[in-house]
Amino acid sequence: MTKKILVTGGAGFIGSHLCQELLEKGNEVICLDNFFTGQKINIEKFFNNPNFKLIEFDIEDKIDLIVDEIYNLACPASPVHYQENPVKTVRTNTIGIINLLELAKKSGAKILQASTSEVYGDPFEHPQKESYWGNVNPVGIRSCYDEGKRVAETLCLDYYRQYGVAIKIVRIFNTYGPNMYIDDGRVVSNFIVQALRNENITIYGDGSQTRSFQYIDDLISGMTKMMAQDEFIGPVNLGNPTEFTIKELAEKVLELIPESKSKIIYRPLPQDDPRKRKPDISLAKEKLGWEAKIQLEEGLKKTIAYFKEII
Ligand code: NAD
Ligand code: UDP
Repeated sequence: MTKKILVTGGAGFIGSHLCQELLEKGNEVICLDNFFTGQKINIEKFFNNPNFKLIEFDIEDKIDLIVDEIYNLACPASPVHYQENPVKTVRTNTIGIINLLELAKKSGAKILQASTSEVYGDPFEHPQKESYWGNVNPVGIRSCYDEGKRVAETLCLDYYRQYGVAIKIVRIFNTYGPNMYIDDGRVVSNFIVQALRNENITIYGDGSQTRSFQYIDDLISGMTKMMAQDEFIGPVNLGNPTEFTIKELAEKVLELIPESKSKIIYRPLPQDDPRKRKPDISLAKEKLGWEAKIQLEEGLKKTIAYFKEII
């Protein structure tokens, strides 16, 4: 059955891939974005599709629509961008999600919240399970995002318990791929763009901190499987559990771009930068029959090909 689906943040990196998948399945898609970090180029290819509609809008404002499903991806995701206007980041994750939960309540729509591994902060539990409550600094420079996403989860659960709204929460671990903004500031796009431009590769700290990188196609399949659930509301981790140090990532990028003349340089580690991160995905396996399939080298090759084209 085709549905009318609202994708907030639909012109961003993940949102544009999600719009594509939902359109390919024959759904009507309303893409809503304020274009803070979103790009028209990511969604231009849908403009001739009669099932696609774009609304330039900010989720801080109340919206009146009737839809079947809502994916809330609206929020800058790169530390560089969410720290640019931290008060705005908090407003997006509080006032914004309240507006969307109200819309879900009124429409009788399901709503999926794109939460994050940042809710675990700089974790003491490794790998991170959904049952871990996290170690988050409430007053640091990352708090606008981390605490914002935590309170957004709280609001989802409160709308579920208080009003019976059909919520779903996915906790997304570091995801990368084509359609990332060239100046996004996150590590995978930074390293690839630097290597392609023969600029220095900037490792923050000594590069021993770890992340687990998920390719976009795996995430989209996990998110749509989660939306299709009836009883299960999450939160559920969606990530690739293979863990790499940031130094290993830099070396891998250079290995895959052998023509690059870039050198690795070291820069100070930003405040509260988590030292390690790796999802435990047993819950996603059990409830969704899902696991990440695309390994780093394969995903990096596709992402490098994308950036080669646009640079
Ligand atoms: P992105 O910055 O490319 O996309 C975010 C989109 O939201 C942009 O198009 C931006 O313009 C839009 N936006 C921001 N604030 C808005 C507002 N107030 N109203 C309307 N639109 C707004 O980032 P992304 O990587 O595509 O992330 C999408 C979502 O997934 C975010 O909510 C992010 O927190 C979450 N997430 C992403 C990752 C990841 O690794 N990519 C990890 C964890 C969580
Ligand atoms: N990082 C880095 N160089 C960069 C960008 C990021 O070494 O040019 C590091 C950053 O300090 C962090 C890791 O890479 O330890 C992942 O950073 P990103 O901003 O991609 O995501 P997050 O910290 O939110 O996981």
